[in-house]
Amino acid sequence: MAIIIDGKELARKTRENLKIDCQNLKEKGIVPKLAVIMVGDNPASKVYVKNKSRACEDVGIEYEEFLLDEKTTQKELIDLIHKLNDRKDVTGILLQSPIPAGLDINEAFREIYYKKDVDGFHPVNVGKLSIGQDTFISCTPYGVMKMFEEYNIDLTGKNVVIIGRSNIVGKPLIQCCLNKNATVTVCHSKTQNIEEYTKKADIVIVAIGKAKFLKADMVKDGVVIIDVGINRGEDGKLCGDVDFENVSKKASYITPVPGGVGPMTIAMLMNNVIKAAKNFF
Ligand code: NAP
Repeated sequence: MAIIIDGKELARKTRENLKIDCQNLKEKGIVPKLAVIMVGDNPASKVYVKNKSRACEDVGIEYEEFLLDEKTTQKELIDLIHKLNDRKDVTGILLQSPIPAGLDINEAFREIYYKKDVDGFHPVNVGKLSIGQDTFISCTPYGVMKMFEEYNIDLTGKNVVIIGRSNIVGKPLIQCCLNKNATVTVCHSKTQNIEEYTKKADIVIVAIGKAKFLKADMVKDGVVIIDVGINRGEDGKLCGDVDFENVSKKASYITPVPGGVGPMTIAMLMNNVIKAAKNFF
């Protein structure tokens, strides 16, 4: 039976440490403040944004929300980003995705001042990650790397298979794992016979959004499994991209859903907000 990687507990510990960092910054006259922009009325985004505001409150980070109408134009959105870039009291900026069709999210990400880009989506930060420089790392991949660190899972020379190649999860993970000296293979929706890759993997990271996609017969004994996916199973319960019940019988380590990668994502956002405040002044 696998060791369960407890993301909830690691996130709690991370936040406790960040509270101290935040307090120390305030004593030096630096007040970390996150500005969150949400455009339109997406119910899932509302929940994510609420969780982020609660986490800020818990750590001691100031928080300001900008809720823009569905009909907001690209210019209005960019104007707001520029205003927040210029505001001295705002140390981190986050644009909640998705935004309504018709708006260009990539342009909006590019307009966020890269030193306030706590999501790590700005091309400067993406580029810095790819050449191994200190930067803001996208929060979910960063959380995954912290889990490896906490559980002493050394990636050196390991065969890591990442399933999913999104800009926010899969692609930054490639770079993070390479930087830790893993041999990295990336699979996606056009990959033929994914099990040929996963069966040889020492570590499999799945981030595709397909409930219980990774089955026990697709992995070898002792594999380390990181499940990024968040789905509703047929029973209506939250589940990941991994068939946890069966894969956990073969794995050496595995993350659960819920309670795995999810809580770490928010903790690493808080980490990035504190980092931005330290860097900015
Ligand atoms: P995304 O942008 O939709 O990307 C999905 C990726 O999976 C794409 O690269 C796609 O391939 C690939 N894919 C889809 N179906 C596949 C299949 N049958 N076989 C192989 N690859 C397949 O999703 P995302 O934003 O990366 O999120 C992925 C999952 O992680 C979702 O469930 C999301 O809710 C979850 N998530 C969780 C957290 C967290 O904090 N725990 C954070 C972010 C995301 P193509 O590129 O070929 O289309």
